[in-house]
Amino acid sequence: MKNIPELFGSKVFNDKVMQARLPKSTYKAINETVENGKPLELHVANVVANAMKDWATEMGATHFTHWFQPMTGITAEKHDSFISPNGKGQIIMEFSGKELVKGEPDASSFPSGGLRATFEARGYTVWDVSSYAFIKDDTLCIPTAFYSYSGEALDKKTPLLRSMEALDKAATNFLNIIGQSEVSKVTTTVGPEQEYFLIDKEMFLKRPDLIFTGRTLFGARPSKGQEMDDHYFGTLKTRVSDFMKDFDTELWKLGIFSKTKHNEVAPAQHELAPIFSTTNIATDHNQLTMEMAKKVANRHGLTCLLHEKPFAGVNGSGKHNNWSMSTNTGQNLLEPGKNPASNVQFLLFLAAITKAVDEYQDLLRVSVASAANDHRLGAHEAPPAIVSMFIGDELGAIVDSIIAGKTYKQNLDSTMNTELSILPTFKKDTTDRNRTSPFAFTGNKFEFRMLGSAFSISGPNIILNTAVAQVLNEFSDKLRYVKDLEVAKLDLIKDTFIKHQRIIFNGNNYSDEWVEEAKKRGLLNLKTTVDALPTFIAPKNIEVFTKNHVFTEAEVHSRYEILLEEYSKIINIEALTTSDIASRIILPAAMAYQQEVLDLMDKKMVVGMNPKTEKIIAEELDTLCFDLYSEITKLDYNIEQAHKIEDSLAHAKFYRDTVLASMNAVRAIADKLELKVGAKFWPLPTYGDLLYSVN
Ligand code: ADP
Ligand code: MG
Repeated sequence: MKNIPELFGSKVFNDKVMQARLPKSTYKAINETVENGKPLELHVANVVANAMKDWATEMGATHFTHWFQPMTGITAEKHDSFISPNGKGQIIMEFSGKELVKGEPDASSFPSGGLRATFEARGYTVWDVSSYAFIKDDTLCIPTAFYSYSGEALDKKTPLLRSMEALDKAATNFLNIIGQSEVSKVTTTVGPEQEYFLIDKEMFLKRPDLIFTGRTLFGARPSKGQEMDDHYFGTLKTRVSDFMKDFDTELWKLGIFSKTKHNEVAPAQHELAPIFSTTNIATDHNQLTMEMAKKVANRHGLTCLLHEKPFAGVNGSGKHNNWSMSTNTGQNLLEPGKNPASNVQFLLFLAAITKAVDEYQDLLRVSVASAANDHRLGAHEAPPAIVSMFIGDELGAIVDSIIAGKTYKQNLDSTMNTELSILPTFKKDTTDRNRTSPFAFTGNKFEFRMLGSAFSISGPNIILNTAVAQVLNEFSDKLRYVKDLEVAKLDLIKDTFIKHQRIIFNGNNYSDEWVEEAKKRGLLNLKTTVDALPTFIAPKNIEVFTKNHVFTEAEVHSRYEILLEEYSKIINIEALTTSDIASRIILPAAMAYQQEVLDLMDKKMVVGMNPKTEKIIAEELDTLCFDLYSEITKLDYNIEQAHKIEDSLAHAKFYRDTVLASMNAVRAIADKLELKVGAKFWPLPTYGDLLYSVN
């Protein structure tokens, strides 16, 4: 392998390349745009485009594409080659500033949730100068935002950038008010930990359910699951280790800070964690990471499953969104620190986040809602659907004493006066024990753990940034004109904790007692996507989005429609796949086996033997086959009924309550059959085959 520092970012048009290849004035102009949002002039774009093209073609690229993130959840690209006729029957390689800055893909086939009905079908992609261009598959990829003719966001990047801006403004302003006049920019940082499964590709190709839906719709329990805990952090199998090396190399070339890799809890499950970066870049990088995981796996004869719940009975996959804020002066705003003065500041931010999580718990829940993630949240393997936050015993005790107006007693008898808000220096590991919390303080950042593995991290970060921006603005209003700022700060901290302490929970989130307790506290328990989504369009939530210029009201409604529709579509595909597999693959296999048993029965009778075993088995199979057939019929009927419902919410509810139940009924019988039918008759790789297929 090439030396890693040299390899790292070798496919990225990054700062180093720009410094080397751009005239000084152009380089400065670009930085002005990135740092201070100064509009980019076309003559600058022309110079950059030309330098990009030269660099890219030297690297073997022949095409360019605007790389964007429509509402489908995956990235989109449309490749154009650099070739341009020179008028003499020959070509030159060309790339203009106009092509770099703006693209015009046809927007009509991307989900828009009704925005297109009201507005024009045309869509634009616009260069996101803050995220570096890169080369993938011999194509120069330019990260872009995607929006409609009338400026409505059609993608996941535009609102993310807006939310980062809202938080920057709110936090900078707030810091200036509380006395940090030198702060002029606050950036949100994210490190997303990514879980995934790796299975043998040949096995994958024999499972239509995995191919069409990403998860197994059938499969009896394997003889061995995850009960031995022998996979977690275990030694990597050779094929997996080869894959991971290759995977890291590809990510490094793209300038992605892939750092940690290990086996996860479930058999065949693994995790990758990068070093954190600015939210926007972390989001782009996570999308690329997911794409590369699939691609590299393929090269190794493996299939990477990013679905949240590929297998029933073993843990599904999530994504942990480690989130913090840092200033241009180099402070991590969630670092408790040693200095008493900055501790008041830390407590203000902790209070702001507590309030934000409490007031917008519904939106945080919406941001992690999907048909697939419904199988995890609240299933005792991932955080529950109830949003709460964990701050650890030490901080918890401090919050308690602030509320009680008492002095905080630290261990070792050293009495601390909360009026001065002196916090003990944090030992990071004392705060990171609770693995069950949806939103946990882990020393100098919060870890939002409800995300599904296939999610774009854009959505959850939009909500975090917007909610915290909103609360910081409210805090600024409270502190702006006070006489005694120091007293006012402490009052605000106390007042906020009193009002929002209910969202803090340091206990076991997987327990049934918590469900009861949370109910008493008045916290929301939005169990499924269909329960959660309607809160997206609640007036208070539309207000927070519009006030902070993150979404327009039309955009919120369009996203609500897109999410509802997506939910129903996913279950519809799963239902059709269930029906097809059950009636065309499983039932015939069970009947073929039954035929074999019946044949043996005949043979035994011919020679005067009593076919007592065959009789029992044949009867059993017959009952199960009949039940399976009846349940398939019911499922088909329910799918038809679903198609008749016009209202999108009622439609989604019907899929959740009726179609899903019907699918489960089919599966239950099929799984029973799997354990009865002779192995050589069973047409699908079993859970055992799938989970232990990679050596
Ligand atoms: P864990 O706390 O899960 O055991 P780490 O402390 O290694 O593991 O951190 C997990 C993730 O958190 C990594 O991706 C890391 O880069 C990220 N992280 C660390 N500090 C910050 C920060 N200030 N902002 C955002 N993410 C961070
Ligand atoms: Mg973690």
